[in-house]
Amino acid sequence: MVNLLDFDADGLAAWFAQRDEKPFRARQVLRWMHRFGEDDFERMTDVAKSLRAKLAEEAEIRGPVPVRDSIAADGTRKWLLDVGNGNAVETVFIPETNRGTLCISTQVGCALDCSFCSTGKQGFNRNLSTAEIIGQLWHANRALGAVKTPGETDEGERVISNVVLMGMGEPLANFDNVVAALKLMLDDNAHGLSRRRVTVSTSGIVPAMDRLRDTVPVALAVSLHAPNDALRDQLVPINQKYPLKELMAACRRYLEKAPRDFVTFEYVMLAGVNDSAADARALLALTRDVPCKFNLIPFNPFPQSGYRRSSPEHVRRFQEILMAANIVSTVRKTRGDDIDAACGQLAGQVQDKSRRTAAPLHRLAAGAGSARTQELRR
Ligand code: SAH
Ligand code: SF4
Repeated sequence: MVNLLDFDADGLAAWFAQRDEKPFRARQVLRWMHRFGEDDFERMTDVAKSLRAKLAEEAEIRGPVPVRDSIAADGTRKWLLDVGNGNAVETVFIPETNRGTLCISTQVGCALDCSFCSTGKQGFNRNLSTAEIIGQLWHANRALGAVKTPGETDEGERVISNVVLMGMGEPLANFDNVVAALKLMLDDNAHGLSRRRVTVSTSGIVPAMDRLRDTVPVALAVSLHAPNDALRDQLVPINQKYPLKELMAACRRYLEKAPRDFVTFEYVMLAGVNDSAADARALLALTRDVPCKFNLIPFNPFPQSGYRRSSPEHVRRFQEILMAANIVSTVRKTRGDDIDAACGQLAGQVQDKSRRTAAPLHRLAAGAGSARTQELRR
């Protein structure tokens, strides 16, 4: 049975064309699925009855199945979604005064093994399909009562106004499925979000950043976390393949397509590791030619991480140095603390097939995490 959530607009039109159905029929079904959150062909009242029956025979609209639904004291909501074979991924909704942000996952686990990330520590199982990625937005819209009804206009505030690909996984390591899902987020017949309200966060896979720019140039966040290659090689191992000079050049190329945009650099603040005044000044030099903002993220601990969160004073001093150089810098508020919904804490359930997790856990158990840190400071 084909799951129609797996198709973007072009894919769905092609699937309809193979069945001698007109493109506008595909658009109708796309609207029902994504705008109205419908999963029952019979209720698609403006679709010809014969086509509804044909669709029900050949296809389905199958969203993710939640296995847990938690709501934090601050209103942050987290769903644990079953993705089969004992695996599950997490999706987080963060309500704020003027917007609602959905943070979605793109992989079961992550192969990139950043030293401070809970998802990375679990190893990698597999990529999520397009249906599983867009399905998180589909599910959240339904669960939050945010789907539109036929005839309703786009006026008014949206419950989910922003989407960030900052959950489990490296979005650009699952390029094709992520791009199809991004297209659905932007498509007026599907979710109709504006390009600037959808953010891809990447640890810096340079060739894929160029491809993203050429396909769907949504807002870009880059996980920087260190001002020099020696430290970044340790924290974000993909840096060994795409070092900072190449990463900064890729950021500049990305903005060529969208000259009024900027890159958001994410920077997790790790006590005694990357949070000194000298680090902040080195960042200014590094990012001099890239129009950017900084988002400082106080480290969110998880068992055996081996790191500590920078003190508020360190974070403030760091922020002041960036701000004094006219770089807009925000400190990310920790949301959903009581349900482990903060950045880097999303664990889901990952049956690791890469068998990589044993090594870092062993290292950390031996206390090498902090020893390594001290070594780097010298
Ligand atoms: N793989 C992508 C997107 C998912 S992670 C990426 O790395 O950009 C989203 C953000 O959370 C990244 O900036 C990541 O570095 C950060 N992060 C990971 N672990 C964290 C932790 N324990 N505390 C705070 N931020 C963390
Ligand atoms: Fe993967 Fe991002 Fe975590 Fe690094 S920070 S391990 S790239 S999810």
